Amino acid sequence: MANILVIAEHDRGQLKLATLSAVGFARQVVADAGGTFEILVIGENIGGVAGQLCHCGAATVLTAAHALLQHPVGDKYARIVADATKERGATMVVGAASTFSKDILPHAAALLDAGMLSDVVEVRGDGDDFIFKRVMYAGNVIATVKLEGPVKFLTVRAAAFAHPPKVAESSPIVSLPVTADKLPQFTEYGGQEAKVAGRPDSTEARVVVSGGRGIKNAEDFERLVGGLADALGAAVGSSRALVDAGITPNSLQVGQTGKIVAPDLYIAIGISGAIQHLAGMKDTKVIVAINKDPDAPIFEVADYGLVGDVYQVVPELTEKLKT
Ligand SMILES: Cc1cc2nc3c(=O)[nH]c(=O)nc-3n(C[C@H](O)[C@H](O)[C@H](O)COP(=O)(O)OP(=O)(O)OC[C@H]3O[C@@H](n4cnc5c(N)ncnc54)[C@H](O)[C@@H]3O)c2cc1C
Repeated sequence: MANILVIAEHDRGQLKLATLSAVGFARQVVADAGGTFEILVIGENIGGVAGQLCHCGAATVLTAAHALLQHPVGDKYARIVADATKERGATMVVGAASTFSKDILPHAAALLDAGMLSDVVEVRGDGDDFIFKRVMYAGNVIATVKLEGPVKFLTVRAAAFAHPPKVAESSPIVSLPVTADKLPQFTEYGGQEAKVAGRPDSTEARVVVSGGRGIKNAEDFERLVGGLADALGAAVGSSRALVDAGITPNSLQVGQTGKIVAPDLYIAIGISGAIQHLAGMKDTKVIVAINKDPDAPIFEVADYGLVGDVYQVVPELTEKLKT
């Protein structure tokens, strides 16, 4: 039996789809081992997000709403998660593998002296307990592990757990009390850099177009990668080589030390396919690579490869897509 608390993720009231993978994980565990799951939404003005999660099959959608929770500041959110875990008697606390969860879940686990596993891709029952598979070393090792203790904190990879179908019955929404004086004050929200206007987030998008060192400067990146992405309604991404060269912002980096994406389609433009880059995108359903070197390692993981100069091929492709 498991009593699971799923931590919902949203961006100023917009539900992050990766949350549904965490719900998919919870539904699978509950179907296999019995028990129930609840979903916790934290923030301010979160009624809309809670409403969107009402048909996921949860026993309850919990909300913790307060002006001090307007931004996802780690120490405050971790306190809310830890308190809700205790109050609801959760035995598993689950979030999507994301920057948000990386900040909050280990912090909450530490407050409860509980164990934490990140990047889980598989779960199965083992008597009264569970065995997990998790990705390690940039995707080169899949470890099989058990987690001791009465409460387990986990993040799950979005590509490993499908979004569950909606259920007809609506979960009740229950508001948890938030006491402002009990919230830690160690960290204060200072601001947030806005992402490139009009383009989707690469961790949410169905299509991601990414550029690497084959592209020489920021103008060419915007014209070639941005142009193709806009023609497809896609998000943009970048290899670390371009981030290090100051051509693209850090927020675009895909890979081991960047974002983990798992879209339906990933188009790699002038990217060699270093293992640290592959760690961030190899769960993609269909990979297309464009590179002038026929021996580039990216072609080993690509479903479709085009050998050619990106400066010639990409504008042609973009033009064709526009007509
Ligand atoms: C600890 C650690 C963490 C790292 N984390 C990350 C990470 O998160 N993400 C990441 O991306 N990297 C990461 N790296 C760096 C990684 O090892 C590679 O150096 C990097 O991914 C290379 O980027 P690239 O493919 O753009 O450049 P390169 O490896 O230089 O490849 C450029 C490619 O472009 C092709 N090309 C050049 N000109 C053209 C043209 N005109 N037309 C077509 N093709 C062309 C070349 O044939 C080549 O294959 C990490 C490294 C370390 C050590």
